[in-house]
Amino acid sequence: MSLNDFIMTNEMPIRLGFFIGIFALMALWEIVSPRRHLRTSKAIRWSNNLGLVFFNTILLRLVFPAAAVGMAVFASEQGWGLFHYIAAPFWVAVLVSVVVMDFFIWLQHVMVHAVPLLWRLHRVHHADLDYDVTTGARFHPLEILLSMLIKFVVIMLLGPPVVAVVIFEVVLNATAMFNHGNVRLPKTLDRYLRLIVVTPDMHRVHHSVEDDETNSNFGFNLPWWDRLLGTYRAQPRAGHEAMTIGITTFREDKWCSWLPGMLAIPFVGRVQDYAINRRQWGDDHEQ
Ligand SMILES: [Zn+2]
Ligand SMILES: [Zn+2]
Repeated sequence: MSLNDFIMTNEMPIRLGFFIGIFALMALWEIVSPRRHLRTSKAIRWSNNLGLVFFNTILLRLVFPAAAVGMAVFASEQGWGLFHYIAAPFWVAVLVSVVVMDFFIWLQHVMVHAVPLLWRLHRVHHADLDYDVTTGARFHPLEILLSMLIKFVVIMLLGPPVVAVVIFEVVLNATAMFNHGNVRLPKTLDRYLRLIVVTPDMHRVHHSVEDDETNSNFGFNLPWWDRLLGTYRAQPRAGHEAMTIGITTFREDKWCSWLPGMLAIPFVGRVQDYAINRRQWGDDHEQ
């Protein structure tokens, strides 16, 4: 059996195994050393956020059964993408592919904040009134499908080794759970760790209700894009314990904590009123 065949056959158990293992570790860490007091009960948060994750997983399998890995295999069979035109050593191709795919995820994240219609989808992730490991996987189904389509395009253009796509998916999933963790890290460790990976304190800034803080730290995995492109912000002004998490336009549990509300959020309100979750949007126009 070739490496690609092995990956195609075992992709689901590999990814599920890492998801369950890292989720369990983070959940335990959150109990032992929590960073903030949770506003909503864990039972409600977890059942609804994980309910959404379960729903998304089934939906994604139905719409795109072979997922990103399938697209990588297809692209390599067709000879599509940059890496089929340049003779790079295998490990270089893997490394570069993972880094480039991470950049496009960063770019996509900036885009879903900037485009009002896409912000409607992404605000489901931001409407969470608390911040814990389950926030990391809480996305509207339409954003999950959009994200997969963007990955398909990147894979077609890049032609990455199939193993790079699996590594990328597993690592992105793992780091998203890590950096959404409601966990306390020693300050010095955090300072060094965030040079190579987005830490919980770094990404939490992005979940602030304050607009300038929301529009910073878009990285999910590598912290470099924010530092290079000017969107890096070290800490929230109010501090990690006192800062308010979420968005100003949705503060009720009906929308923020319960699954039916989360699914409905993109369709609430007029597009122009919700340009970018902006309190100052109204203010700007009144001036
Ligand atoms: Zn965001
Ligand atoms: Zn987030």
